[in-house]
Amino acid sequence: MTKAFASQADLADKKVSFTQLSPNAYAYTAEGDPNTGVIVGDDAVMVIDTQATPVMAQDVLKHIRSVTDLPVKYVVLSHYHAVRVLGASGYEPEHIICSRDTYDLIVERGEADKASEIGRFPRLFRAVESVPQGLTWPTITFSGQMSLWLGKLEVQLKQVGRGHTKGDTIAWLPEQKILFSGDLVEFDATPYAGDAYFQDWPHTLDNLAAMKPRALVPGRGAALTTPDAVAAGLKGTRDFITDVWASVKAGAAAGKELNAVYKDTVTKLRPKYGHWVIFDHCMPFDVTRCYDEATQFADPRIWTAERDQQMWQALES
Ligand SMILES: [Zn+2]
Repeated sequence: MTKAFASQADLADKKVSFTQLSPNAYAYTAEGDPNTGVIVGDDAVMVIDTQATPVMAQDVLKHIRSVTDLPVKYVVLSHYHAVRVLGASGYEPEHIICSRDTYDLIVERGEADKASEIGRFPRLFRAVESVPQGLTWPTITFSGQMSLWLGKLEVQLKQVGRGHTKGDTIAWLPEQKILFSGDLVEFDATPYAGDAYFQDWPHTLDNLAAMKPRALVPGRGAALTTPDAVAAGLKGTRDFITDVWASVKAGAAAGKELNAVYKDTVTKLRPKYGHWVIFDHCMPFDVTRCYDEATQFADPRIWTAERDQQMWQALES
């Protein structure tokens, strides 16, 4: 039997958790679906990654309203992927913030990514008609690092290296040592690496570990509420990325074609990671990008709805 494309066969709703990590930090998680981080300051709320549509954002807002009446002043985009970005208008924020590198990716490939991701994840784009026309654009961009104060609470937004994309941004509460990692870290969920920098990603994770987070909200999976859980999340993601890279690099160096490298790599990795959510969805994209990086493409090539289907046909039929 041919495998259904990406997450098209995944239609069962997940159970939402809203976990408090500190006096100011919350994690909206749903059994491996994309997470949203929430920071409640003295005078305003910041949302980190939005959910895929404004209608789905309403459920996040409902949970925010169970702990505060303050306005959502800031939306931060950890990176450009549509499944985390297109719900932004649902919060009616004063500002949408992302890195300049993420802005550049939205300009270059935002439209292609929107069409591609809507095709990959029908369940996550519930009420896709509620997404405004066009793309979600930032009102503020930064390079490297910036701080915002929600009253007395400092929130740092930082780029600590490339990994999941070239624009990856984390949010950090320096006094409470709470980290919102976006898709740089996943927990019991397969890292999507179709737009990744495999050789950089492990070093970026080492930079996150060096910050010694007390708790961490990953891109997917449960909130990591202790230093031991944080270490496990960082290690799991690092191991996966280095294992994919080692397998694909060896295959490419031996002169094997992508198709053979894909089959070898899935066979090698399935025993260790096959139980993580979206393993079967991610592997064709991850290995394709990894093979590109190991052979001839320093930067990820743009995924379109058509390229998604061609790749899937080539590797899965
Ligand atoms: Zn992503």
